[in-house]
This record gives sequence, structure tokens and C-alpha cells, in this order.
Amino acid sequence: MNRLCSPLQERIALLLIALLPALPLSPAGAEERRILDLTHAFDETTIYWPTSKSFHLDEVHKGPTGKGYWYESNDISASEHGGTHLDAPAHFFQGSWHVDDIPLDRLMAPGIVVDVAAKAKKNPDYLIQVSDFLDWESRHGRIAPGRIVLVRTGWEDRWPDKKRYLGTDQPGDVEHLSFPGFSEAAAKFLAKERGVAAVGLDTPSLDHGPSKDFLAHRVFGKANVPGFENVCQLKDLPPSGFRVIALPMKIGQGSGAPLRIIAELGP
Ligand SMILES: [Zn+2]
Repeated sequence: MNRLCSPLQERIALLLIALLPALPLSPAGAEERRILDLTHAFDETTIYWPTSKSFHLDEVHKGPTGKGYWYESNDISASEHGGTHLDAPAHFFQGSWHVDDIPLDRLMAPGIVVDVAAKAKKNPDYLIQVSDFLDWESRHGRIAPGRIVLVRTGWEDRWPDKKRYLGTDQPGDVEHLSFPGFSEAAAKFLAKERGVAAVGLDTPSLDHGPSKDFLAHRVFGKANVPGFENVCQLKDLPPSGFRVIALPMKIGQGSGAPLRIIAELGP
């Protein structure tokens, strides 16, 4: 009588064989699932627009209560638009989506990274061009509809130095803002010709620093394309092959909101 495999052992063996494809691969080179946080923390150093209210945390209580347990709690306040945040399309276009109107599939989708850091290094007010996306497509293929397009300008390396990141560290000063952003043509290309789900970048604004008419914001707003600003850790992402999850605080009828944005890589 074969005692090597009782009916129970046989069932366990079959179950293990069925599970094998789901087990993590150990050989060198096997891709592993990784999650990257593309979000700056919110604290007193977080960069806001020079005319906006910065993040503020008031400690309500932090310590023993005298009733046998510890208790911590804070009050927070800030502008919608500062730190890593979402721009709702309604921010620059009447009638477009507010924060709580945005369908979740616009905020959770496959992502790509287009790197313009070398150009932004030479020109701090660099306007991201249509050709930057066409160059990317010539190497990686056409940008499919419903992608989240992230642009790396290298500005995240300047965080949290306000003078270097914004161009000015003076409260209220909007005359000396200096950083890269999307050109109007690039915004139209992504919104209309590629049908992107959302866009994001590692600078304070979709429009570049010197902008006075905010053309990129208006194009994206009219096309109901949400924007993610002040994202980070883009240098650790591949050009494609990852998924973005960007969930803002669900502010009812908000024009923007603090955002937690992550990227998921691997199988
Ligand atoms: Zn904003």
C-alpha cells in the first residue's frame, strides 16, 4: 500500500501546485512589487503659493491624560493648493469637475514619466513642449488613452528651499516666480490628442513660473483633466510600466485638495 500520499496529503500537494504560479519568484532579475510614495509630507516647511495660507498645525493635546491613557490630537489648516495637491478642473474653468466630482478611474490608472530635467536645468522657466512627448513616444510607443502622464523637471531636488523652488521666498511675491510648466500646446496635445486621464509634475504649478494667463490650467480645466502638483520621487520611476493611485482629500466642491499619490510597480 502506498503510504506516501494520503488523500489529505494529495489534496495539499495539489493545492500547492495550484498556488505555485502565485508564489513570489526568487531568482535574480525577477521583478518584485514595489510601492513608491510620490508625496511630500505636510508640515511647517511645506511650500505653498506666495499668496496662499500655509500648512499650520495646532497641537490640541499631546501627553498623558491622568486617566491611564496617552492622548494626541491636532487641529490643521491650509490652502487647498500647496504641498503635493490636486488641482480640480474647476480651479480654472467654470462648470468643470470639483474635487468630489472627479471619477475615481481618472485618479487610478497606468502611468508614464517624461523626463525634461536636462532642459529645465538650462532654462528654469522651461515650457514643456509637444516634442517632449513625441520624443518619448518614439522610444516607448504612443501614449494610450487613459494614462496618467507625469513630467519630471528635476525641481523636486530643490524642495523645501522656497527661493530655489518657487523663485522667491517673499510672502505675496508673484512677480519673481520661476519654475517649469506645461506649454499651452502640450496641454492641448495631452488633453485632446492623447486623451490622458490626468497629468502631474514636480513643480508648484501646471503653468510655468512667469505665466500670468495660466493657459495650461485653462486647457486642462476645460477638458476635465485633473492636475497633480508638487509630486516627488519621479526619478525612481521607469518611463512606463507602473500604476498611479492619486487620492485627494474629498473636499465637497473643492477647487483642489491635499493629495496622497503613490506609484505601484511590478506584477
Ligand atoms: Zn493647484
